[in-house]
Amino acid sequence: MLKVMATQVEIEALYPHKPLKGQTAIVTGANSGIGEGVARHVAAAGANVAVNYVVGPEAANAVCEDINANGGTAIAVQADVSSEAAVQTMFADVISKFGTVDICIPNAGLQRDAAFSQMSLEQWEFVLKVNLTGQFLCAREAVKEFLRRGPRPEVSSSLGKIVHMSSVHETIPWGGHVNYASSKGGILQLMKSLAQEVAPHQIRVNSIGPGAIKTPINRSAWETPEAEQKLLTLIPYNRVGVVDDIGKVAVFLASDQSDYITGQTIFVDGGMTLYPGFATGG
Ligand code: NAD
Repeated sequence: MLKVMATQVEIEALYPHKPLKGQTAIVTGANSGIGEGVARHVAAAGANVAVNYVVGPEAANAVCEDINANGGTAIAVQADVSSEAAVQTMFADVISKFGTVDICIPNAGLQRDAAFSQMSLEQWEFVLKVNLTGQFLCAREAVKEFLRRGPRPEVSSSLGKIVHMSSVHETIPWGGHVNYASSKGGILQLMKSLAQEVAPHQIRVNSIGPGAIKTPINRSAWETPEAEQKLLTLIPYNRVGVVDDIGKVAVFLASDQSDYITGQTIFVDGGMTLYPGFATGG
């Protein structure tokens, strides 16, 4: 099993003031990788967390058990984020359990890579459906719930917060991964257009753009020292990221610490978006 993140005890110690206390968050694809890390940080910051998974209840349950054993509150919720009915049922279940949803972190995503001329319509549509439509469906249910429930000034200045999990590939082109890069480029305009539309309701919408983070999705790119060395040529900060790097920023964007930030992508990438190939004059 992949373990490149802090323990729940270490994560809890980061948030003594519990900035998300009294709030409820849904994190999709939270039985693995970045989503798991984000769920752990958001729970440690005091929120009730719905740990969404599509397959693999054991992993989701293990994350919840660890959070619950360390003073947090987490439940596992199954839903395929590309299914409208499943996403609506997930929100209804979480609202019936915790009363409302304050924070939505659509994170679930996948790759189906192919050279462009070989890319099947199925590979194209599958990636767009999970990565982009899935984020649309979750964000829409979240906005509906924020508007239905109304303000809760005792827990947050915002009516609600959405934190999309995008990628450096919302701006960096990625040959061989055109479907994936297109889905992340789509998230950029989903996030910005939605942020513009709902800002008057005090709903904040932002994205995190991870660079290379050690998770199962990109294991082959960092698993051996040779692969990691090659990857580091793209990362000026000279280390591969870990899920805790993302979890910390997710807590910031979900909390009132970022109350005046909306419509932005925060790249968490060790400088990958700084065109490192130009560092020595290009
Ligand atoms: P991961 O494979 O560990 O996690 C992806 C999660 O999404 C898994 O839990 C998977 O079960 C879930 N998922 C897939 N299809 C789903 C569906 N239909 N419904 C619900 N859940 C579904 O990979 P990760 O690296 O943790 O990726 C998480 C997010 O971060 C993705 O959106 C990915 O594009 C993004 N990201 C990752 C990196 C990186 O370097 N790891 C970089 C940039 C962006």
